[in-house]
Amino acid sequence: SYVIADSCIDIMDRSCMEECPVDCIYEGERKLYINPVECIDCGACEPACPVSAISQDRKVPKDKEAFLADSERFFNEP
Ligand code: SF4
Repeated sequence: SYVIADSCIDIMDRSCMEECPVDCIYEGERKLYINPVECIDCGACEPACPVSAISQDRKVPKDKEAFLADSERFFNEP
C-alpha cells in the first residue's frame, strides 16, 4: 500500500484525503495515516501532497522505516 512519511507531521495539508477514492486516509494527532488494509494502491494521493510525503511502502528507504512502525501502531491500537 501507500504510506505517509514524517514530512506530513504538523503540515496535515489533507489534499490527499480529497483524492482518495476509498477514503482510507485518517487524521492522527500530528500527521495523516493511510490504512494499509483499505488502500487499493491507486496512487491518486501521491501527486496531491504538497510536501511529497506519500510513497509506496516498498519504496521507503531503510532510514525512514520508523514511520512505518508508527503507522502500524496507529491502526492497531484500540
Ligand atoms: Fe487512497 Fe489510492 Fe492513496 Fe491508497 S493509493 S491512500 S487508495 S488515494
